[in-house]
Amino acid sequence: MQVLSQFRDAERVKPMLDAIRRLVTKQWTIMEICGGQTHAIMHYGLHELLPAEVELVHGPGCPVCVTPLELVDKALAIASRPEVIFTTFGDMLRVPGSNLDLFSIKAAGGNVRVVYSPLDAVKIAQQNPDKQVVFFAIGFETTAPVNIMSVVQARALKLKNFSILTSLVRVPPAMHAILGSPFNRVQGFLAAGHVCAVMGYWEYPSIASLYHVPMAVTGFEPLDLVQGIYSTIELLEKGSDEVVNAYSRVVTFEGNRPAQKMLDQYLEPCDRQWRGIGMIPMSGWRLRDEFSEFDAEKRFDVSDIHTHESEICIAGQVLQGLKKPFECPAFGTLCTPDNPLGATMVSSEGTCAAYFRYYKRS
Ligand code: SF4
Repeated sequence: MQVLSQFRDAERVKPMLDAIRRLVTKQWTIMEICGGQTHAIMHYGLHELLPAEVELVHGPGCPVCVTPLELVDKALAIASRPEVIFTTFGDMLRVPGSNLDLFSIKAAGGNVRVVYSPLDAVKIAQQNPDKQVVFFAIGFETTAPVNIMSVVQARALKLKNFSILTSLVRVPPAMHAILGSPFNRVQGFLAAGHVCAVMGYWEYPSIASLYHVPMAVTGFEPLDLVQGIYSTIELLEKGSDEVVNAYSRVVTFEGNRPAQKMLDQYLEPCDRQWRGIGMIPMSGWRLRDEFSEFDAEKRFDVSDIHTHESEICIAGQVLQGLKKPFECPAFGTLCTPDNPLGATMVSSEGTCAAYFRYYKRS
């Protein structure tokens, strides 16, 4: 905890902010990919302490927010079945589907349980051999290994009553989608430190050089964030498209090779819909065919799903850094954490939730 408090120490953060003020000469737009970073920036008020030349826009790195509506509706259909125990992280309970959410299914008597680890879902399957146990496996590269560990463990235990409903997504294709858009405003990226802890950052230099956009691998504490912002501005001011590691106490270039090997063994890349954004080619992972017995979409017939998204919600534009939550007509009125219209108002990593909690209009 003492180490952590050093990274929250205002006396260490202030000189870094002063250094940014001395360094910056032009207007720059920088995107932090990760919703956890968005919350930390808003929580500590870093967006208000940066010079006016630096605008932070917020990326799509919130797994709850980008889980496609169709998959949420499939989760609701599966969770409603009497033979199913549906397990999920707590964040997903309030995410609106077309008509309901998992919380309403639970309130109506559905066996929906919050777990803190995918491996807890495996235990529930062991304890309930007469039930089908499904885990809602959502996440980026950060949590993909532990999600897949549940399949590894269920396989080792020869469980026939465990499966996962998968929405696993990858950052590099999302970067391509954002930077390749004709509406793109992003000039530099703060790459998410926890994603890079697993995957390394060997995939990023080719993206940075293709779009001429520098990146700094960045952590989550205030000092980490201002160091990442400083490094990105330094590269921008030099006209460089390098990728630097501003989170070297956790991240290496190669990342966690055994975790990457396990992901490669169990998963294959696939096209994936991102809620509000649309399909991003090869941005998802799905279980390889040899593990399809653990794929809930194959185990249950949930193909006849018709989705209906809120017409007001602009979360897709928020997640691409094109708009801020306060530009949404429903922000704080029709849409609040108690009555969310979009997933970005629900999740603990959602941008709209961060603005609702921390943003002060001047
Ligand atoms: S405030 Fe609500 S309705 Fe508006 S973009 Fe955010 S989640 Fe969607």
